[in-house]
Amino acid sequence: MSNDDTPFDLGPPPPIFIPPPGPVAGAPPPAPVAFVARTVVPETPAHAAHAPQKIMALSAKAPGSYTVKSGDTLGAIADTHGTTVSAILKANPQISNPNQISVGQQLKLPGASSGTGGASPQPSQPKPPPKKPPPKKPKPDKDDDKDSKTEHKLIFPLWKKPTASWKDGPRYFGCPRSGGRKHGGVDLYAPFGSKIRAIADGVIIRPPYFFYDGTNALEVYHPGVGVVRYGEISSSKRVSVRAGQKVKRGEHIAYVGLLDSLGMSMIHFELYGERARGQALTQMSGPYRRHPALVNPTKLVDKLYKLTFK
Ligand SMILES: [Zn+2]
Repeated sequence: MSNDDTPFDLGPPPPIFIPPPGPVAGAPPPAPVAFVARTVVPETPAHAAHAPQKIMALSAKAPGSYTVKSGDTLGAIADTHGTTVSAILKANPQISNPNQISVGQQLKLPGASSGTGGASPQPSQPKPPPKKPPPKKPKPDKDDDKDSKTEHKLIFPLWKKPTASWKDGPRYFGCPRSGGRKHGGVDLYAPFGSKIRAIADGVIIRPPYFFYDGTNALEVYHPGVGVVRYGEISSSKRVSVRAGQKVKRGEHIAYVGLLDSLGMSMIHFELYGERARGQALTQMSGPYRRHPALVNPTKLVDKLYKLTFK
């Protein structure tokens, strides 16, 4: 796990990218809203239908607490919540061995306990006060399907064709998921460890962070396309990328991950309008439990495929 979770105390409009927080003196603590949005509703594909229900694990708990789930490590929990292992240990003196935490164990989360409703499960969080607007006015959203001039700048995120269609099975966008949720992306099946490349030029918004079932996600802003969350990437095989880093179309940015409890591997591909840039993509409300700028990526993926393999 990298120390790359990001704060969400961003007033509108969002910045191009968010620097990773860390134990840096003077750095503002991450807003508690961040991990609510990030962790309460993990990706739960239909192919996870037989996996243990993990949704709402946090929401039933008191603010500032966390219930250890299967596969968790202190490092991962620290990453996800914008804190450090040592801070967690300090807040939880009952932990004698940091390598031995057990499922169901309650942890206090440092930095979240003193806030007002830090881990509140309410879907509508009070927005942080707006900060001073940046000098440039924000660009308008381009949520719609893209025009042809960007097409030559696009490429499929895998070097090889995925092993199943992203338009049927449990893989398609909108496919019903457990708890009434709908699938917020398309799944591109590929062998574990397959290389993943950037579909277009862009900039890393958020380097890999814990996403779901032992896998990570990576967020890239591709101008003219939108924000892409490359989900279910490997947490063990990693490409070193940092927030703010520019990437070129076709650049190797990650590896396909392995879903621990399912033994399956894929890219879970999500697309958002650019106004989602720097925002919490996983949210409590709506059928998809995603940021409202979520876009059906099927046409884009169709286009990527056609441009790359036909
Ligand atoms: Zn998926």
